[in-house]
Amino acid sequence: MARRPFVAGNWKMNGLIASLTELEAIAGKAGAVADAIDVAICPPATLVAPAVAQVAGSVLKIGGQDCHAKASGAHTGDISAESLKDIGATCVIVGHSERRTDHAESDATVHAKAQAAWRAGLIAIICVGETEAERDDGRTLDVIGRQLSGSVPDAATAANTVVAYEPVWAIGTGRTPTNEEIVEVHGFMRKALAARLGAAVAGGIRLLYGGSVKPSNADVILKLADVDGALVGGASLKAGDFLPIIDAAR
Ligand code: PEP
Repeated sequence: MARRPFVAGNWKMNGLIASLTELEAIAGKAGAVADAIDVAICPPATLVAPAVAQVAGSVLKIGGQDCHAKASGAHTGDISAESLKDIGATCVIVGHSERRTDHAESDATVHAKAQAAWRAGLIAIICVGETEAERDDGRTLDVIGRQLSGSVPDAATAANTVVAYEPVWAIGTGRTPTNEEIVEVHGFMRKALAARLGAAVAGGIRLLYGGSVKPSNADVILKLADVDGALVGGASLKAGDFLPIIDAAR
């Protein structure tokens, strides 16, 4: 099945108002490839509204990096999916390994956050990935299978969900799995989703690779079987790095 590539940038806790100038070139590229590729930038929460304003009229999606499972309430410092939607976000990352580690988020929490994203009308970019110790122990597929079944709700569709495979040990390290390892995990994820959601639904869900994607490796990674795009951290901060990655998704 032909899937439309999805390339998303995760700015993490980086960027000030001045950084939004990077979005001009990224929005321009998103427009230039709009026939074939979806492009998103997920800036820190403080920049979501200004980013939406900056790219007004463009097809570039602006997203959050996390949302609370509830729509509102006494949760100081948290942000609801509804609030993100209200300021113009169209997608949100849930279950990033930095959230799973720094905030002890479980698969059940991520599952609830994905449902919250849908409730608000946002695309959920659900992240999974093994640690280095888990890979060294030969437990990668067990871990990914458990995270997928625990984090991806049964109502996932190609329209409401994107899944990102991000090996924890590859994030921000400059290291990546071998091509064979990426293909193995992505093929496994496709089969695991098909077993639960049906082949038609699973065949439409975009599976992104994330972890040290950069201009020099994007061409190869983005052409691997069952890799439908990338979730990009460090190399999404500068348009000069991110634009060639978008081009590599063609
Ligand atoms: C990420 O954190 O989502 C990520 C993929 O980071 P990096 O590209 O910097 O490894």
